[in-house]
Amino acid sequence: MMESFVFPGLTTRVVFGSGTLAQAGDELERLGQSRALILSTPHQEDEAQRLAEALGKRAAGVFAGAAMHTPVEVTQKAIAAYEKSGAGAVVSLGGGSTTGLGKAIALRTSADQVAIPTTYAGSEMTDILGETSEGRKTTRRDPAIRPETVIYDVDLTRTLPVGLTVTSAMNAIAHAMEAFYAPDRSPVIELMCRDAMQAFKTGLPQLIADPQSQQARTRALYAAWCCSTALGYVSMALHHKLAHVFGGSFDTPHAETHAILLPYTTAFNEVAVPEALAPIAEAFGGGSAGGGLWDFASEVGSPLSLQEVGISEADLDRAADLAVENRYSNPRPFDRADIRALLQQAWDGARPGS
Ligand code: NAD
Repeated sequence: MMESFVFPGLTTRVVFGSGTLAQAGDELERLGQSRALILSTPHQEDEAQRLAEALGKRAAGVFAGAAMHTPVEVTQKAIAAYEKSGAGAVVSLGGGSTTGLGKAIALRTSADQVAIPTTYAGSEMTDILGETSEGRKTTRRDPAIRPETVIYDVDLTRTLPVGLTVTSAMNAIAHAMEAFYAPDRSPVIELMCRDAMQAFKTGLPQLIADPQSQQARTRALYAAWCCSTALGYVSMALHHKLAHVFGGSFDTPHAETHAILLPYTTAFNEVAVPEALAPIAEAFGGGSAGGGLWDFASEVGSPLSLQEVGISEADLDRAADLAVENRYSNPRPFDRADIRALLQQAWDGARPGS
């Protein structure tokens, strides 16, 4: 029982269901927007073009250049396209990379955003923008970054490959893991995170067995919304910092990096806050939160070692240096040697605590 808390009651309009993509035009109208630029990655350009056709006059064009970790060069090109198009809004159709591009445009132009997430990464409910410039990822929070509207359409997640389904779900679980011990957590966020853990624990094995299962896809997207909401309400700590170090400075893929680090960062912080992380230990079994997540990751075929994203043992020293460059809060105090040891475990890939 939390004896005191602050719940800021943030407002993002959420439309959740199957076939909800068809409501994109109505949602733009609700925002008072007559024209929007559609954003996607090159991989999802066809879906973006289909949405543009469906939106008719409301579509001001498609910019299909979104890339992972939101490089500022891409944002500059997208802003040029946005300004030329005469749009007042962006519609981001895709995973966290596309949502990130929409946020980067909105921050610089005041464009309204309709985010339509197609992974479980969870950027859509947050006021966080991570951008990469000259090999460094910097993260900022600003209310102007938060999308006005989020449309979750379960049907769009049916094409998500099994590998990305698994790592993206682990990425979502990482938001909940850090929310459980965040100093600014609240009972509503804790309830959402607990429910999300159960949904992923039962839903992810079902999805691996049947990636087209509408029921399991619905459960997973619901859980992703819970975890994204948590990320949007609370502060993150060591786990997210380390993921950003690898993504920003070693260009490792976002979801895999989170998935690999998660059991090790959880085990590291569990030493300091075992009660806070008890919901994870309860959901995943295995006697501890870190061990339970490692077991779950093994069961669902999630990568377990930094070697799997191309990190060499020599890279660990530079990563540890970068991770301790700035101070940030974490439930367990640490120094560079602690981080270097944690990274070694994540590189070795052995079950934490055994
Ligand atoms: P992604 O958006 O880069 O997508 C990975 C690939 O999968 C892309 O090629 C994409 O087009 C494709 N894809 C996406 N959905 C698909 C689908 N349903 N079917 C088939 N293919 C699909 O990957 P991601 O993991 O969703 O997002 C990673 C990015 O999001 C990183 O840049 C990260 O920093 C950012 N992020 C930001 C926040 C935040 O709050 N600021 C939170 C989470 C992630």
